[in-house]
Amino acid sequence: MVVRFAPSPTGPLHIGGVRTALYNYLLAKKHGGKFILRIEDTDQVRFVPGAEEYIMNALEWCGIRVDYGVREGGPAAPYRQSERSDIYERYAQTLLASGNAYLAFDSAESLDDTRKKAEAAGNHGWQYNYKTRMEMENSFTLSPEVVKSRKEAGESYVIRLNVPENREVHFFDLIRGEIIVHTSQIDDKVLMKSDGLPTYHLANIIDDHLMHVTHVIRGEEWLPSAPLHILLYEAFEWTPPSFAHLPLILRPDGNGKLSKRDGDRLGVPVFPLDWTDPVSGEKTSGFRESGYLPDALVNFVVLLGWNPGNDEEVMTQERMSDLFDIERIGKSGTKFDIDKLHWFNQTYLKEKPEESFLDFVKEFLLKNGFNTNFSDAYLLKAIRLMKERVVLVKDFVVKAPYLFKEPEYDEAFLTKQWNENGKKNLIALSSHWESFPSEKWHTETLQPDFHEWITTNSIPNKFILPQLRLALTGVSGGPDSIAIADLLGKNETISRLARLIAHA
Ligand code: GLU
Repeated sequence: MVVRFAPSPTGPLHIGGVRTALYNYLLAKKHGGKFILRIEDTDQVRFVPGAEEYIMNALEWCGIRVDYGVREGGPAAPYRQSERSDIYERYAQTLLASGNAYLAFDSAESLDDTRKKAEAAGNHGWQYNYKTRMEMENSFTLSPEVVKSRKEAGESYVIRLNVPENREVHFFDLIRGEIIVHTSQIDDKVLMKSDGLPTYHLANIIDDHLMHVTHVIRGEEWLPSAPLHILLYEAFEWTPPSFAHLPLILRPDGNGKLSKRDGDRLGVPVFPLDWTDPVSGEKTSGFRESGYLPDALVNFVVLLGWNPGNDEEVMTQERMSDLFDIERIGKSGTKFDIDKLHWFNQTYLKEKPEESFLDFVKEFLLKNGFNTNFSDAYLLKAIRLMKERVVLVKDFVVKAPYLFKEPEYDEAFLTKQWNENGKKNLIALSSHWESFPSEKWHTETLQPDFHEWITTNSIPNKFILPQLRLALTGVSGGPDSIAIADLLGKNETISRLARLIAHA
């Protein structure tokens, strides 16, 4: 089994692309096959600098390992289509020689004109096909001498596929079953553009053949192109690979394809890594920088359209590839369920050692203007304190900024809880803690001592617990206040009490 992921470097990799790559990769892994990453960059107009690099880094972050590709090399190198122009040119010539392709000289203006005229006559969706080609300027309608001289005069032309007249194209899609399309529905697609570069269709088929691709697994947006591809295989007299067209990933409400705009609206990324548009400078945040774990994301993504046939959900990559099969990929689109994604992230996060979050937390603190001179021991303790409460890695800071800077008092909490009784008790607690031995400043000793202090002084909980939390964190809810005091240390704790006491 040889599979490939063949993105065009027109922008960052969307979550749908991650899924396509993943399914290909898992199948190769399962069958001991090869996974190719081919960069389809023949469309110079849509080329976006940095996108290729981004795609490779994103796959790497997801743990999707490429066997043959631009970085890896391989038996059919190069794997970047812009470096394979001579190959496409050669094969285009064989199609011309066998009569399966022809030259067309129609200018963009004349094509436009023809389309407009057809429209005016009520014929919408005019196509360059076997019904109309005899009215156009091509090697069917021009004599070989004229074709030759126009070529020699440097006139620009394209090479089009000679779609056979009036027959059915049959092929089998592993997800959708038998598909039949009549050739009257297929236009004489341009195979080579006037700039001498191939279109997607030609380059894609030639490369899949030369790279011995056995299974083409790609998004359903390519399904309409598949009959054309079958015709190309026929024209070359090559055996086509097996096809599987994956259903769309839908918006959470099920209405249409999940877009970057939906992601922005819902506050969830749709790209693996941060991306800065090289032209507009617009920044889009990725799953990685937003605090998602790659194995959680991959586990979530694998279930967007496929199921293992049982209720297994949390799976290692090994397990996924053992269980993966095309038969269990659904035909209809799958909704992107954010809660499920968060559940996966939280589940994976709980299993990871605290150390694995250190770098992320440090970088997050730095990027977000926090003090960065915390020791690793302090950060690990903070991470441990929050571990059961976070969903995203950034939540270690976002949900508990007070562990890394002075608290900001929540207005509602302050108004509700800051009163004379509380203040009096906080002053008393502060002086009690002043004389508390520093070397015993640990939850294990602080906790019983604190309760004893409350009891001895008959202090009602409601006049000390919320006020202590307010002083230490500024907000209601969060980890145990004494555990926070332990983390902050004696000096910082007492200074936070003093700060609230001094508050009007
Ligand atoms: N270059 C196409 C894309 O960007 C590849 C489609 C295919 O896999 O055949 O999606």
